[in-house]
Amino acid sequence: MQLDFLGDLKRTHRCGELRSKDAGSAVTLMGWVNRRRDHGNLIFIDLRDRSGITQIVFDKERNPEMHARVEAVRNEYVLAVTGTVELRSENTINPKMETGEVEVIARELKLLNESKVPPFFPGDANVNVNEEVRLKYRYLDLRRPEMHANIEMRHRVTLAIRNYLSSQEFYEIETPYMTRSTPEGARDYLVPSRVHPGEFYALPQSPQIFKQLLMIGGLDRYFQIARCFRDEDLRADRQPEFTQIDLELTFPTEKTIHDVVEGFLDAAFSAAGFSIERPFPQMEYDEAIRLYGIDKPDLRLPPMTDVKAVLPPDALETLAVDPALPVVAIRIPKVGELSRKERDEHKALLSEKQSKVIKFFDDFKRLEKSWPEAIAKIRQLSGAEEGDLLLLVAAPKKTEADTVSSGDAATERRLQRDSYAVYGAAGQLRLALAQRYAARHKAFEEKTFKFLWVTDFPSFEWDEQTQTWTFAHHPFTSLHEDHMELLNEGVKALHDPNSALGAIRARAYDVVLNGTELGSGSIRIHQQEVQAKIFEALGMDEAEQKLRFGFFLEALQYGTPPHGGIALGLDRIVMILAGAPSLREVIAFPKTAAATDLMMEAPTPVTESQLKELSIAIKK
Ligand code: ASP
Repeated sequence: MQLDFLGDLKRTHRCGELRSKDAGSAVTLMGWVNRRRDHGNLIFIDLRDRSGITQIVFDKERNPEMHARVEAVRNEYVLAVTGTVELRSENTINPKMETGEVEVIARELKLLNESKVPPFFPGDANVNVNEEVRLKYRYLDLRRPEMHANIEMRHRVTLAIRNYLSSQEFYEIETPYMTRSTPEGARDYLVPSRVHPGEFYALPQSPQIFKQLLMIGGLDRYFQIARCFRDEDLRADRQPEFTQIDLELTFPTEKTIHDVVEGFLDAAFSAAGFSIERPFPQMEYDEAIRLYGIDKPDLRLPPMTDVKAVLPPDALETLAVDPALPVVAIRIPKVGELSRKERDEHKALLSEKQSKVIKFFDDFKRLEKSWPEAIAKIRQLSGAEEGDLLLLVAAPKKTEADTVSSGDAATERRLQRDSYAVYGAAGQLRLALAQRYAARHKAFEEKTFKFLWVTDFPSFEWDEQTQTWTFAHHPFTSLHEDHMELLNEGVKALHDPNSALGAIRARAYDVVLNGTELGSGSIRIHQQEVQAKIFEALGMDEAEQKLRFGFFLEALQYGTPPHGGIALGLDRIVMILAGAPSLREVIAFPKTAAATDLMMEAPTPVTESQLKELSIAIKK
């Protein structure tokens, strides 16, 4: 096929722009052939670009030569067409197309490129294309209007955030990709150094240390739309590289940071056409666990209710539940009557591990017969209405040997750990039931945005595997000033799961939306001795501290101002705003769940000479 050059031809409009008011004007459009219909003397081509589609008419009588060329044109060929906009006749108006009132009668054609028959047609709506094929031919997939809309939404949202932060006197500052390990709790991606054989850079898991150094550097307010790299075992919806809205500021309180975040989220949601309610409610971590059994509560459904106090002792005894641990009621609204069989299926909602921690009772009619007053009170406390599903959840009674009674601090902490395990398992059951009956309560259907700040997280988490304490957020997180004593006490018991470290609460906060964590941040430690003590609590002796964080401990000694910040996942925010089912729908070139790029075919082996240059030998 003879192709034409573009020359200095310019387009006058995009393909989605023409309306009835343009009738009579001469236009030049450029784009891809979305569809071609051959009606003999008339050939219709739907020409597509990112803005939409216009119908072009090639009439044999008016221009036989051009008509002949168009006969060879197929889907996804690239054309430039000059012609006249005409109103369509009444019976050919297409109300489904934005440009459906007009068509362009072609006068001149440039055939700019042809196309192989693609594995799928980007213009076919609702065709079920396998995701692997979409990712392999991502450049074709990106031509789909749905992808255009998502990418455009991402642009608009990002721009709104940038503008907002700039208006609040934040500087956008880039930080290095080739750096050293930052502890965010995942594995690093490493980059071998050729110049320093045997040495590696790490790709940043976040710009955490750099942004703190920027505060030490007096820059006052920093943000970055920052790429982060974490080599994690990829769970369903994660990407090995992802984007954070990362920020840090000097002399803040928690409120200063929350206000900034609410401000930019408001800007982002408005850019996507939604309004949100501010200020966001706040809840301490401990309360979130008690009410929802999880640190990212979904507020679209009611919380759990502690009901042990209203159950008479004989009820606890008969139901064989542990009287020392919580008993909670879960309520799922508007579930309606359930058959015996449906209730029997509830058991399968608990994993084997969870069913060791909790048991539940969902036959309220039977419970009511035995303890009518208590059950009436439970209905009232949990706010149950006719048709709501109620479950009573408790820990199975322990054998005598397991029972602890004395009231010292360590025992109290153990009891709290056990209680939190009960709340946690109950919270999982609540979510599983919420999913199971989603079609009945319909709480997940409308676009309601229930934001929440969860605050005062534990500083440390007990790691069963290594039998040590690890940081819950990252090791630069400040603890509550009045918890310093607990820290001094806790570092003496590093291998005890009931150590005082578990009671320390951090000045850390998460912003949560509809049960999803959008981001976390904290007020940072700005005093060197406190930072060193935290490293010690994490099991790092002085030599190791020096080796890993020497430069940072040094920097902290030169007049570090109080500072704090946060980072939010941009991909996730856009995914929610676009109503997309996965992060891959809002990232132009995403990786698969197995961390591969199907289009570039990365990762790949490299040549022997590349390896040699890097002084690396591959162990076979
Ligand atoms: N760097 C932290 C993270 O990625 C966020 C922060 O503390 O600002 O989770």
